[in-house]
Amino acid sequence: MQKQPPAETTASGAGETRLPSGLPPLMLFAFYGLLCLFPVFLALLQGHPARNIFRELSSGLVMVGYVMTLLQFVLSGRFEWISGRIGIDRTMRFHQVTAWAILAFVLVHPFLYAAPRLYPEPMDAVNSLQRMFASPNLRSGVIAWYLMILIVLLGVFRDRLPFRYELWRLSHGLFAIAIALFGTAHTLRVGTYSADPWLAGFWIVATAVAVAAMLHIYLLKPLLKRSAPYRVVSNRKVADRMWEVAVEPDGGPAMAYAAGQFVWLNLGHSAFSLTEHPFSISSAPAERPRIAFTIKESGDFTGHIGDIAVGTRAYLDGPHGNFILAGREAKGAVLIAGGVGFAPIMGILRQLKTERYPHPLRLIYGNRVESQILYRDEIEALKKELDLQVHYVLSEPPPGWAGIVGELSADRLNACLDAIGGGDWLYFVCGPAPMMNSVERTLLDRGVPRGRIVSERFKYD
Ligand SMILES: Cc1cc2nc3c(=O)[nH]c(=O)nc-3n(C[C@H](O)[C@H](O)[C@H](O)COP(=O)(O)OP(=O)(O)OC[C@H]3O[C@@H](n4cnc5c(N)ncnc54)[C@H](O)[C@@H]3O)c2cc1C
Repeated sequence: MQKQPPAETTASGAGETRLPSGLPPLMLFAFYGLLCLFPVFLALLQGHPARNIFRELSSGLVMVGYVMTLLQFVLSGRFEWISGRIGIDRTMRFHQVTAWAILAFVLVHPFLYAAPRLYPEPMDAVNSLQRMFASPNLRSGVIAWYLMILIVLLGVFRDRLPFRYELWRLSHGLFAIAIALFGTAHTLRVGTYSADPWLAGFWIVATAVAVAAMLHIYLLKPLLKRSAPYRVVSNRKVADRMWEVAVEPDGGPAMAYAAGQFVWLNLGHSAFSLTEHPFSISSAPAERPRIAFTIKESGDFTGHIGDIAVGTRAYLDGPHGNFILAGREAKGAVLIAGGVGFAPIMGILRQLKTERYPHPLRLIYGNRVESQILYRDEIEALKKELDLQVHYVLSEPPPGWAGIVGELSADRLNACLDAIGGGDWLYFVCGPAPMMNSVERTLLDRGVPRGRIVSERFKYD
């Protein structure tokens, strides 16, 4: 749902604002498609006489599936040239959806190979499959095949597993590396077309790129982070179960970013630790070197966020994301937040205040109860400095509540939006997934062009 973000790097008057860059989505898509088909093209160039249709289909599908598998590493490598424009949430969604296609292509591989033996004696096909799975020559392929099923199942049922997220992430990475190594070994050893040096070379280079993408995230990035540590300078409660944790660089300059972006935050662990979480920056770039996060107590890590002591070492991987107003043309902006989804919007509002943003702003901010409203005094003060109108929405309001009552349904949203807006406004949406889905649908139904809706999802599924 995210609009094409700006692709330049600028310095705003109020403080350095670094806008994300990245390849245009269409170019990425074309590049992805071409890469997936490239080994099939190399195989066709070999000019072998066609075998049985099932075997050719099996080889073709598994080659495409295997390039897609290796590209999964690159997709999850947090590369700005990939997700700078389309957003990390969409990149990860693509990673998840393509995992199903990969699984299908890889799963059918042995079955299509055995399929020609189904006729006239079906048991021949079963025996052939048994021989394949027992063959020492095919062992690396069989291991990769089983691991592929396992990794997808673990991904799908991640939230229901009795493991910490970090353990899942570690297993995901290790299984992925194992699949790449066993898969490539299998291809090079028995792949019908991979005897050709060009195709073999392609698989070796593609595997090396996949491993390099993994090293980028688990080795290079931590090394860079280690050389630019931060420290927690304050941690205060800002609403019911919400905390504002602020960090500053431990020497050196603070990261440049655009208001609304997020980082993977590591608090109190080694720079190489897998314990890091994505949090939006709720302070303005103009407030640097101070960088603040507004965090809701919700799980294993965030449940104890209030205990983080001043002085705790922190590492930031970022900035990421394109939930950004800077650099986008708009006659005005509607900011729609639910709960802690207000965090990046607060960062944007704080920056707009320092820049004396001249255009109208409308904030529609939903919560369950009044004590969850974040930064209410500051929001009220902002009304005097910006052309800002605010609609607070509560589903469980206190007696005498003057704001809107209920969920952010289509009716309520339409009532807030009727007096304003149009195709040349921008709409920023961040909050719980059901709220975001409903808001995005309502905006599209109102005729807001898809490209004017900018979303940030706090969960990738
Ligand atoms: C782009 C983005 C920006 C976010 N900004 C904020 C914010 O400003 N304030 C805020 O309170 N929350 C924010 N979140 C959500 C926050 O990251 C999760 O609430 C937090 O990671 C949960 O960790 P936990 O261990 O407490 O919860 P758990 O109960 O252990 O995890 C709950 C779920 O959170 C997700 N999660 C946990 N750890 C990670 C991780 N390391 N990487 C990715 N997902 C993870 C997984 O889906 C997991 O199933 C943001 C999320 C994203 C993706």
